[in-house]
Amino acid sequence: MEEEIRKTIADNIAAVRERMAEAAARAGRDPAEILLCGASKMNGAAACRAAIAAGIDCLGENRVQEMTQKLSEHAYDGAPLHFIGVLQKNKVRQVVGRVDLIHSVDSLSLLDEIDRRAAKEGVVQNVLLEVNVGGEASKSGFAPGDVRGVIEEALGRAERHVRICGLMAIPPAAEKKGENLPYFEQMHQLFVDSTPLLLHNSTELYLSMGMSGDFEDAIAAGSTMVRVGTAIFGARHYPA
Ligand SMILES: *Cc1c(COP(=O)(O)O)cnc(C)c1O
Repeated sequence: MEEEIRKTIADNIAAVRERMAEAAARAGRDPAEILLCGASKMNGAAACRAAIAAGIDCLGENRVQEMTQKLSEHAYDGAPLHFIGVLQKNKVRQVVGRVDLIHSVDSLSLLDEIDRRAAKEGVVQNVLLEVNVGGEASKSGFAPGDVRGVIEEALGRAERHVRICGLMAIPPAAEKKGENLPYFEQMHQLFVDSTPLLLHNSTELYLSMGMSGDFEDAIAAGSTMVRVGTAIFGARHYPA
């Protein structure tokens, strides 16, 4: 059983890498500059270990409780761990210092809370700012037009324990292939425009966008990190 999971996940990762390489080639990009983050929610420690053994660049979790449980099982040993889900302020304590990158900072007050906690722990926490590129009421994130001001504000504060390393976005669920390309292009432009400011803060910058259904379009538009769940781990079975 475990052997079978390992083989399936390794095959899936190889297939995703192949598609990433083809998308990069079509865009005239070097595939080596695009990281593959496995979105491992609802998959157990064995699946995480299989992905790491198959050379995933990092794993991303989006629920604090599940991540804490799997950390205690050493599910992520050997790969960077990212937090990619909605982060409530009362759970910041359980995430700061335990993950290499938080993708989902959606307010200045959350950034402040992360800074406070990181200072207490004596660490510098790497984060991305989440952008609500589709302007959806159901999604969190900064409005695209606010991003520049938010970065300026954050850099102007005394915050020395958070490092803003780029941007992340989850565009609206697309019905058709290619539908999200304009959102990805808008995000890339925002990333390019923000880069001079962000370079004051971090020399390593990321644009995190693209999931199982649309990572090729995200790569075409300039994504440097795709977060892929279903195409690696299979369909998630949500409890009824
Ligand atoms: C689950 C998840 C993904 C991956 O979604 P798939 O469609 O399964 O590839 C990417 N990003 C975030 C924030 C997620 O929660």
